Amino acid sequence: MEYRDLNIQTQREAPNNARTEGFSFLVRAGYLTRENVQTQLGECAIDHLRDLSNTPSFLTDLSLPIMDNDDEVFFPIAKGPSEVAYCPSCKYTERVELARFAKTMFPQEELLPLEKVSTPDCNTIEALADFLGIPKEKTAKALMFTRINDNKFVFVAVRGDLQVSEAKLKQHIGDIRPATAAEIERSGAAAGYASPIGLKDALILVDDLIPQSQNLVAGANEAGYHLKNTNYGRDYSAEIIADLIQAKAGDMCSNCGNSLSVVSVINLATRKELYFENILLALAEAHHDNKGLTFPHPVAPFDVYLMHVSGKEMNTRAKAEEIYSALQSANISVLFDDREERAGIKFNDADLIGCPIRLTVGEKGLKEGMVELKRRKEKDNRPISFKRLTSLTGPMEFWDLIKAT
Ligand SMILES: [Zn+2]
Repeated sequence: MEYRDLNIQTQREAPNNARTEGFSFLVRAGYLTRENVQTQLGECAIDHLRDLSNTPSFLTDLSLPIMDNDDEVFFPIAKGPSEVAYCPSCKYTERVELARFAKTMFPQEELLPLEKVSTPDCNTIEALADFLGIPKEKTAKALMFTRINDNKFVFVAVRGDLQVSEAKLKQHIGDIRPATAAEIERSGAAAGYASPIGLKDALILVDDLIPQSQNLVAGANEAGYHLKNTNYGRDYSAEIIADLIQAKAGDMCSNCGNSLSVVSVINLATRKELYFENILLALAEAHHDNKGLTFPHPVAPFDVYLMHVSGKEMNTRAKAEEIYSALQSANISVLFDDREERAGIKFNDADLIGCPIRLTVGEKGLKEGMVELKRRKEKDNRPISFKRLTSLTGPMEFWDLIKAT
């Protein structure tokens, strides 16, 4: 590919909307616009990744620090669109809203008799626990929804110290919306003072900790009142008992007991699909330095950045073109910077774009039959024979020559 054909536009400054360095360099190197749209160069890079993905080990070969389970592959990234719960010890990985964890149980108690108590202005768990001087885990929290497909009133109870995961709820009962005041009233519940006791036409779900937690304080379904010592089984029952709780950082891994982390991620793949734009971003996050991208072979869209520095006596560009044709015949992917720009500008762009090898054709070297080889990740240049470069028969020979230089 010739540089000008791709319309590459590099930028000196990082875009002000860059959330990560990888994104910033993809924009600065001209793979993406600031608006996160692929340019021609970006499309080249993605087509190249798509070709590589024909091998089954594609994702593992990228050596990215991925987190995965049977269904999805994730890459950790600042301010990503999703979060996973991750166990650094056993590698358990799950979207945080669906993650399992080991819940803290409290000692079993004998069932005490129900007792109605006045609890004025206690329509939140915090206010209730404060007012009664009890920990939040001794209360039952109520959430009320309406199922979308049949308008069924849904009542959910979880221990007061825990948060419901709507994603887990939806796995059991389908799509829901918050119940309206009229729907709550019709069921016999009282907002802020609700419990599953004595409801009409309600689909009741409880978290699996509820049947194991005795003598919880729950609403009396009457404004200003709660019931002490409510007990699942004795005072009410549920259609569905299931894990309904949202995991959080520090919860215990249910496989190994270590502490779970919550990590911001992008999704690289599902069982059915690879997300190449995200894979390119992940590669940029994993492979850059302070000058630009440092894509390794074979993920780099081009193995070689070829450029010439204008000469006084010799036509360096014609020599570079010879190398360009020879490398192409040898099946090496080349980005040929054929612009008549100052060397410094081209060097900067080469560093930004991040091809593993840079070849610079200049007058001084040519006089000795040499061009300049620079590996993107190394500081120094080495001379490499013009003759060898223009008489290659295939990629193996090319990489052998690079290795030996
Ligand atoms: Zn674990």
